Amino acid sequence: MLKSEVISLQVDEIKKRINEAAERSGQDSDRVQIIAVTKFVGPERIGEAVGAGINILGENRVQEFIKKYPLVEGPVQWHLIGSLQTNKVKSVIDKVELIHSLDRDSLALEISRQAQRFGRPVKALVQVNVSGESTKRGLATDELFPFIKKVTQLDGLLIKGLMTIAPLGDPESIRPVFRTLRHLYENLAEKDLPGVQMEYLSMGMTNDFEIAVEEGANLIRIGTGIFGGR
Ligand SMILES: *Cc1c(COP(=O)(O)O)cnc(C)c1O
Repeated sequence: MLKSEVISLQVDEIKKRINEAAERSGQDSDRVQIIAVTKFVGPERIGEAVGAGINILGENRVQEFIKKYPLVEGPVQWHLIGSLQTNKVKSVIDKVELIHSLDRDSLALEISRQAQRFGRPVKALVQVNVSGESTKRGLATDELFPFIKKVTQLDGLLIKGLMTIAPLGDPESIRPVFRTLRHLYENLAEKDLPGVQMEYLSMGMTNDFEIAVEEGANLIRIGTGIFGGR
């Protein structure tokens, strides 16, 4: 079998499992969008995923993103899903549709500054470290509301939702992490703050996306499940 067929079969398989998870939990599977995570994947195979119907790509390293960005053709948008250094903001801001990793004041400030320079608002998700693991980036849950209140004052920055990375582990220990993020998301949506639109709940990767979908994720980030092992 050709590699491209494998990628296309994997994409179909992920879609099927999304549908099943959505059905189990009474959610609308049409709301769930797949981000194909291109970490360690070259332009050719990324192109095959696009050929298989993927239209959102996610990269977690800025340098890789800048390299791959001009090499992938077709109707795709790119999301930056990994940690972003302040001094790299200006090299990605005109190329990314959504930044998933807003996690500190200095980054919010720089995004705002560059957004104004480019004359276009920039959309970002706030990354939350729900599990509190010291190895994970993101705001603690109790830092989230004060942070969002502060950054909504900044011009050119649009807060579009929340993102988290769950700890490794068995599914039932992961579920509360996703559920907590969804509650935070719903609380924020109710507050109806200016400059804040809770549109995207980015959670779930290859090993845990079904639980994330059951808990209300609408953006899931799949790497190995589409492209195979790294
Ligand atoms: C690598 C990565 C993913 C995808 O991980 P898989 O387990 O390969 O699906 C998702 N989100 C982030 C932030 C990543 O760095």
